[in-house]
This record gives sequence, structure tokens and C-alpha cells, in this order.
Amino acid sequence: MTETEYKIYIDDVIRRVESARLKVNAHHIVKIVAISKYSTSDEIKNLYNIGQRAFGENKVQDLKTKSSELEELPLEWHFVGNLQKNKINNLLDLNPTLFHSLDSLELAKEIQKKCEAKNTTLDALLQINSAYEDTKHGVSPEDAKEIYNTIKKECPAINLKGVMCIGAKSEDKELVRKSFEITHNIYKELEDATICSMGMSSDFELAIECGSNMVRLGSIMFNFQLS
Ligand SMILES: *Cc1c(COP(=O)(O)O)cnc(C)c1O
Repeated sequence: MTETEYKIYIDDVIRRVESARLKVNAHHIVKIVAISKYSTSDEIKNLYNIGQRAFGENKVQDLKTKSSELEELPLEWHFVGNLQKNKINNLLDLNPTLFHSLDSLELAKEIQKKCEAKNTTLDALLQINSAYEDTKHGVSPEDAKEIYNTIKKECPAINLKGVMCIGAKSEDKELVRKSFEITHNIYKELEDATICSMGMSSDFELAIECGSNMVRLGSIMFNFQLS
């Protein structure tokens, strides 16, 4: 499709985000992070050209490659993947805008150590496994609040800004809703948390209805590309 057609297509995605957020209330603002993990730097540039600024990757090496290929553009980069301990320094060197997937106290303590050594900080979200799926990372909903507050206290180099979850992988909309509600209820109980990152291409409207204020949209943002 042409750039104009791509813009019309993306405007429609934005309109869907708009109507979902207006159902919550007029003051509920939702940010779109375009997850570019299956996309090339050229495709990211196409989306940038029609107005998108925030992008996210799930592998440190890909984040490094694409952010350096696109370094002349004023983009913000999010990291949404599972972070292995031996990649912490690499991630810190890339200075991401937000790390969405902090998934254990143990990892937080390692990040704290590396941040101290580099005299830097990291903005992050605590990932919650509110779908109770073995294949998903994240702390259990039962432990989330305590772990969140422990990280706040013991890891001052990590600026915890809220929570993240991946919705239940199910055709049953009520199960998906439940996983979002569990995360949002925890979010509401946290002191000075401002980001609730939930919702992907297949479930973002439901996530927003459940209180998400940051959606991570991959395939829906990149499916249709310029030819
Ligand atoms: C891939 C990915 C997304 C985007 O997925 P889509 O279904 O393509 O929108 C969002 N969040 C995380 C953590 C991901 O890994």
C-alpha cells in the first residue's frame, strides 16, 4: 500500500484506541508502543513517517541493531522481552525509555547491582502473570504487591513506574478480561504507580476497558506495509 493508505489504516487503529479509552472516560489517556520485533528498520521508518514515535523490541540484540540503525530519528525505545542476567549490561548501555518485563525480585537485585556499577538508573514495570500460564513470565498476583514494594525499597536505581501483563491466551473473552482485571486491581493499590501496560493486537480494546494506559501493538501496526 502507499504511504497515504498506510496512514489511513493506522488512523483506524488509533480510532479504535480512542473509542476504547473514551468508554473509560475523557481523561483516560492511552499510549501506543509499536512492537517492532517482527519488523525491519525500514518498516519502522515507514511507521515513524506517519507519526509513531514509541517502539519496542523483545531481544536486546535487536534493540541494539535497530536503535543504532535508526539513531538519527527521535524515537523512544521500550524493551518488552524476557531479560537474561547476562544481558543486563547490554540493555543498560542502550538506555531504554522503559523496561516492561521485570519479572522477579532476583532479577531486580541483579539490575540494581549493575546500575550501581554504571552509576545509572532504569525505569521499569513489574510483570505480573495474571493469566496463571506456565509459559508466561511474571510474578504471581498474590506476591505482586509485596515484591513491588520490596523492589521500591531495596533497589533505588530501579524506578518502578507500574505493572505489565500479557492477557490470557484464550478464545474466552471473560478469561482474558479476568487476567486484565487482576493486573489493574493490583495497579490501583500501588502507591505512585502511573503505568499499566496491557493489551496487544488481539485484545487491546478489552485491555483499555479494563484500565490499561499503555498498549503494546505489534502485528496490527506492521501487517500492512508500503509496497
Ligand atoms: C510481541 C509482543 C507484543 C505485540 O504482539 P502483537 O500480538 O503482535 O500485537 C506485545 N507485548 C509483548 C511482550 C510481546 O512480546
